[in-house]
Amino acid sequence: MIFTIDRYESIRQEECYMLCPRCDSEQVRVMVTSPIGEEWVVYMCEQCCFSWRSTEKIHVSEKFKLDIEKIKNMQIIPPIPPLKTK
Ligand SMILES: [Zn+2]
Repeated sequence: MIFTIDRYESIRQEECYMLCPRCDSEQVRVMVTSPIGEEWVVYMCEQCCFSWRSTEKIHVSEKFKLDIEKIKNMQIIPPIPPLKTK
């Protein structure tokens, strides 16, 4: 089966009831669906960027849970310095 807009819209309706397993945000969107059949959907949290597949049983340990305050205070990945020139 080929992915269609109707399929995407039906999945979008379902995602309204989903929370991110890592930060409990309701800002979850469909990232991609299985290209053949309706086997799986990959969801992504727009708040913490966590992604997971619909076929997985997700368990996020308490020590890895995030909230908006933790996300705000995360360190920034150091920038990569420019390449050395000869
Ligand atoms: Zn999240």
